Amino acid sequence: MLRLQLASTRFLRPRLWSRDLREARAFAGRSSRGPREEKVTKEPAVETPQPAASATGASATGASAPEVPRPVPQGLLVLPLLRKPAFPGFRQTLQVSEPEIINFLQKEKKQGDYIGGFLIKEPFADGDASGLRREAGRVSSASQLEEVGTVLQVLVVQSFGSNQAASGGQITVMPMHRVRRTGTLSQPSPYVPVPAVVVADLEPIQGFEDAEEATTALAPLVTLLQSLNNASPLLKQKYEKVGQYFRNCMQDPVKVTDLAAGLSTAERGELQAVLQEQDIREKIKKVTHLLERDLNTAKLQSEVKSDLEERVAKEQKREVLMEQMRQIQKELGIEKDEKQTLTTQFRDSLKDKVVPEEVQKVIETEISKLNSLEPSSTEFNVCRTYLEWLTCLPWGKFTGENRDINKAESMLEEDHYGLEDVKERILEHIAVSFLKDSSQGKIMCLVGPPGVGKTSVGKSVARALGRKFYRFSVGGMNDVVEIKGHRRTYVGAMPGKLIQCLKSTGCGNPVVLIDEIDKLGRDMRGDPSSALLEVLDPEQNSSFRDHYLDVPIDLSNILFLCTANVLDTIPGPLLDRMEVIRIAGYVFEEKLAIASKYLIPQTEEGSGIGADRLDLGDEVLQKIIKDYAREAGVRNLRQLLEKVSRKVALDLVRKKCAEEGPAKINLENLTTYIGQPLHTSDKLYNTGTPPGVVMGLAWTASGGATLYVEARGRMPCGRVQGGLAALTPVEVEPQVEKPKQNGSMQVTGQLGSVMSESSSISLTYARLFMRELDPENSFLDAANIHLHVPEGATPKDGPSAGVTMTSALLSSALEQPLREDLAMTGELTLMGKVLKVGGIKEKVIAARREGVKTLILPRQNEADFLELKEYLRAGLTAHFVDHYDDVYRLAFDAQQVPALASPSRGLPVVTVEPPPDPQPAPEEGDAGSNALPWTGGAPTLIVSKNRAKFGHAAYHALTLDSATFCPHYNFPMILVLC
Ligand code: ADP
Repeated sequence: MLRLQLASTRFLRPRLWSRDLREARAFAGRSSRGPREEKVTKEPAVETPQPAASATGASATGASAPEVPRPVPQGLLVLPLLRKPAFPGFRQTLQVSEPEIINFLQKEKKQGDYIGGFLIKEPFADGDASGLRREAGRVSSASQLEEVGTVLQVLVVQSFGSNQAASGGQITVMPMHRVRRTGTLSQPSPYVPVPAVVVADLEPIQGFEDAEEATTALAPLVTLLQSLNNASPLLKQKYEKVGQYFRNCMQDPVKVTDLAAGLSTAERGELQAVLQEQDIREKIKKVTHLLERDLNTAKLQSEVKSDLEERVAKEQKREVLMEQMRQIQKELGIEKDEKQTLTTQFRDSLKDKVVPEEVQKVIETEISKLNSLEPSSTEFNVCRTYLEWLTCLPWGKFTGENRDINKAESMLEEDHYGLEDVKERILEHIAVSFLKDSSQGKIMCLVGPPGVGKTSVGKSVARALGRKFYRFSVGGMNDVVEIKGHRRTYVGAMPGKLIQCLKSTGCGNPVVLIDEIDKLGRDMRGDPSSALLEVLDPEQNSSFRDHYLDVPIDLSNILFLCTANVLDTIPGPLLDRMEVIRIAGYVFEEKLAIASKYLIPQTEEGSGIGADRLDLGDEVLQKIIKDYAREAGVRNLRQLLEKVSRKVALDLVRKKCAEEGPAKINLENLTTYIGQPLHTSDKLYNTGTPPGVVMGLAWTASGGATLYVEARGRMPCGRVQGGLAALTPVEVEPQVEKPKQNGSMQVTGQLGSVMSESSSISLTYARLFMRELDPENSFLDAANIHLHVPEGATPKDGPSAGVTMTSALLSSALEQPLREDLAMTGELTLMGKVLKVGGIKEKVIAARREGVKTLILPRQNEADFLELKEYLRAGLTAHFVDHYDDVYRLAFDAQQVPALASPSRGLPVVTVEPPPDPQPAPEEGDAGSNALPWTGGAPTLIVSKNRAKFGHAAYHALTLDSATFCPHYNFPMILVLC
């Protein structure tokens, strides 16, 4: 194979190269007849070749008909062009990355020899890693080349050599004239890396009839060329290079099109099309199109460039002027330099502040550090920002506290209805600070369902105290830096929320409301609760250290208020430092008062309809509260009233009721304002509960709620017990005496672990209780029982359903319903003791909402119940029980169920009757301050709101007068009348 190739090379050499050289000379002779051309080909260093036009004798009409017919060449080595065709007249230096091509051409081609330059048909993939812009290279076959190319006169062939990072070299050529590839002499091979082809001159291009026509046809192109020259400096440079070559032939259409196409930055295909176009008019058209596009691009580029230059020049000018100004001011002593200005600013901002000694030291150190730093350095900016923070804090600045207790009280009344506990606590705070003559920080935590006014109370407290207000929410916060700030080493470091608060309020004693403290997050970025602990702890917060500032800051004058929906999720140590004030939610009467006194005037003002434009009758408001907004808070109620006001506003603007006075909203048109009611009733059973169903009371994050517990069971022999009478086929199949077996219980209703435990306790207790009650009744022991708490989609948990579940099981076993309108709550032990539960106020509110008349509550919750306002207890009889025996006695109809054999095993039941004539908005301190109305005889205990004072006195009096009346001496029942 090797031998064969060598042979073929040997064969080619004499035949091709000698002929090639000969032909090339013939080309040279033909195309460089003029003396200048001779010179150029011999001295390639001269930049400007002789115009080919003069050589070819092209006339002004564009007919490039030579005077002497050219000999048709036979063969030519071809350098494949990769990017664009070579247009005559444009001297080019072509980068070639293949060293074998460069070596070959260096060996074979002398200066002045000719080769062909043909563009490759397909665009090549530029995969050369050297980064060299390849312009000519290798092809595998001559068929990859375009038909029409150019004869190139070789001027210099230069190899990069082995030292260069890039391989290959470059070849400088002068394109002479167009030729057509008519055949292939040889394909590229390892020894001859370029193809050899047979070429023939192109047919002469038929020009214009006369010079005038040619000038007219060329005029737009020439104008375009001139415009391009002016628009693009790059093109101008190029033009100047080749200008000499074309100087004398601006009348020759072929030359002008060559010039234009050579300058153009168009696509390779478009340029090749121009090169091979033989019709002069078509050629001019194509080139004109290309130049127009180039001109647009050049104009755009020059616009962008001039815009940029303008801006840079402006900036520079500004800088120079600023520098001059600085120098002049310095000379005149008007202004000091930047550092001095800053230092003065920092000192000025501290003038009327009382800065602690330690902080003053830090500030001085930082100021001297700032003066030693270069203003353009990053450290300078860090130092400057730090000083800005340190100096902007309100050191020793406090807002004057309102000491007028009456004014504060009336302000609190103005903003909120009810909420006596909160208001009283704030007034106490004012009293203490008045007596101590100092403002003192304390933490109050307002706990309650959404929309009960926790946040708005915070604002109102700040107003009443005459302090600034700042609120931030810690719900979902799990990064400790939000509270304590970033350390100064971090880029973009910032102080924490407390420092931001001091900066924005500009005083050291604002009211700070920390919202959603029960929803604090915690992850690997730290535990924000520990940071909050430092902030809230009165022992520590007088020298709080923020990570960013790193100086002690006194937060002890801040009045902190926190809000939460539940207490369970507040971290223990945090809860320890807080004074919890519960806002349980509002009952119907309270909502009515809030709506008419606060929400309606506020929404009227908020929607711009003006005062007294909403005429909501009492019955409408009642319906809204009962059927649309039954949750514990009043946010929904407010939104509904806002909805009504917005609709009225729209009507007003449409001039519907402009002259008619207030907009009347009645029961008939209510739905057009706020749609259909959302609630009907929570009551599943309107005419008493069936056997096996008991109404319990629950406490959730959004207030109290009633919840039913249902129990049904199926005996293995088929007897079904519990359930609605109509659905109860009592005997499904004849009862057959079967051996007693262990029953089972299934519990459903998304109960949490505590409630599931309660259900097991209840079953055990109910089984034992049933055995005592009626040993014959083996239902609970043998049946497969299903206990369910409806609304299965709502997760429920808590220990307070023990008595309810036991009652449901017993009711199912006895097939007896409980008394009507009865609800109960209480945790049950295995011994039958009824334990204290939480959320009594919320539960009472929920029970009243559902029209419950009798409550069974744990004995230990009696105090909680008695603390409730009269209007909350209105219509409710509450029995406080210590043992399940009493629950059984109170819940079932004694006529229908077996009686308990022994007296109750717990403390006596206390029954609190409903207040005789409750006032919806009772006045403070009416009862309790008077002397005891004890007259002896029947036990009567008057209990006032102020239980601590009056209640104890009453008990005491009872004990003194007659020991038998005191509950501690086993008196069976105390009747409490309010
Ligand atoms: P929370 O923070 O408890 O979720 P907000 O403080 O946001 O509730 O209160 C919701 C709205 O209810 C506020 O517009 C507030 O003015 C109003 N509001 C709540 N309680 C009362 C009240 N007792 N008297 C007057 N308006 C109240």
